[in-house]
Amino acid sequence: MNSSYIVAKFGGTSVADFSAMSRCAQIIKNNDQVRLVVVSASAGVTNHLVALCLNDITDEQRTTHIKQVVDIQYSILEDISLDADLATGFEHTLSEFKFVAIQQVFSEQQKDELLSFGERFSSYLFTQVLRRLNIKATRLDARDILKTNSQFSKAVPDINATKTAAEKYLLPLLTSQVVVTQGFIGSNEFNETTTLGRGGSDYSAALFAEAVEASSIHIWTDVVGIFSTDPRLCIKAKPIAKLSFDEAAEMATFGAKVLHPATILPASRAGISVFVGSSRAPEQGGTWIEKEKSQHSGIRAVTQRKNQILLTLKSPEMLLASGFLAKVFSILAKYNISVDLITTSEISVALTLDNAPNTSRPELEQACLDELTKFCHVSVENNLTLIALIGSQIQLQQHEINLMQVLADFNIRLICHGASKHNLCFLVEQSQSDSIVQKIHSQLLEA
Ligand code: ADP
Ligand code: ASP
Ligand code: MG
Repeated sequence: MNSSYIVAKFGGTSVADFSAMSRCAQIIKNNDQVRLVVVSASAGVTNHLVALCLNDITDEQRTTHIKQVVDIQYSILEDISLDADLATGFEHTLSEFKFVAIQQVFSEQQKDELLSFGERFSSYLFTQVLRRLNIKATRLDARDILKTNSQFSKAVPDINATKTAAEKYLLPLLTSQVVVTQGFIGSNEFNETTTLGRGGSDYSAALFAEAVEASSIHIWTDVVGIFSTDPRLCIKAKPIAKLSFDEAAEMATFGAKVLHPATILPASRAGISVFVGSSRAPEQGGTWIEKEKSQHSGIRAVTQRKNQILLTLKSPEMLLASGFLAKVFSILAKYNISVDLITTSEISVALTLDNAPNTSRPELEQACLDELTKFCHVSVENNLTLIALIGSQIQLQQHEINLMQVLADFNIRLICHGASKHNLCFLVEQSQSDSIVQKIHSQLLEA
């Protein structure tokens, strides 16, 4: 049976400065079931840390990024003074950061260590902001609980090890106080720091919730829920009151940045509902994501994921041959590349991969291309966007006429539909994708 604990996660803008942190503290004060709090780095910090991982920056740029990270922490410290237990840890973390950040980092492990500082800093500061409101709060290092493999920058959680550690070190603390921990970071079996990938704090919150068998996960961000499309792109986008796990997972996978793509996995495994709301306007409610199948059929949202790579592999040997795809996928697996869309013809296969910006490692490494080139002709196209229509029981003929009219003016590079009734995806030129999404939204979702 699940506990009555709620895990609350606060994203970068929600912990950007002292007043944002204070609003979040009030949300926690208003709900005494919230016992575990997962914080992101303050807005902008992780981007500076990613920049510090790049070795082609000048010394001057390096100094500027370090200063900006430190300044963000000190601006919050203008409004609070840390209790002795937090001050000691914070000062130690700050000197460690300055020591690590001033040097060039070469290994993937060092990069993850450097990327971890944002969440480590914000969790000290946030704990103190809670204490200002007389909330009994303590800080816990996520790396002692969230165990992962050693795939740095995109670590895969070890669910069993995480549960064991949570039962031993975390659950006993939750009975009498609020525990503040970090999103995004974990550690491998050698206790080396790992990260879950950009935007990974949502995923951390869901993993912690699964480990402590929480009753729900509250994701507090800068929008009042999950919308029919990114509200920054369409002013007429509407918040969706209720989504099924399947629909929400598809939206997150295909680019609704409001949730990290893997967030729904632990939640649906453990049957834990997820709420998404705005820490600026908690009274406005938000979206509930629950296990019940959707009552709505048809398209409910449109998402986009920019910076896609289209990889086309051609080989005459593929004609009537078996084993070509297996060979391709074993090479992609070796480089930990995950494929999103795939279409095949008699002698070729086209795949899409994510090439997300602001990450410490490119998705498609030259070494992987070199291996593929040994047995097929490889072409790589960039500057593409994957657009997805998301819903339940999507049937092409329901929307065929509208959709084809909407798409008629645009150059569609690839279409995928059928593997799931929850999505219909296609690839377009990045320069056109915003206007395509706006057009689809106005014609299919604003009726
Ligand atoms: P946080 O820092 O809290 O994790 P993110 O920036 O990662 O916040 O996610 C919130 C942002 O996601 C919103 O500001 C919004 O622009 C964007 N977004 C993209 N698609 C959607 C969508 N369908 N619904 C809501 N927000 C979306
Ligand atoms: N701080 C990390 C990032 O910016 C993780 C997160 O905020 O979810 O990607
Ligand atoms: Mg996020």
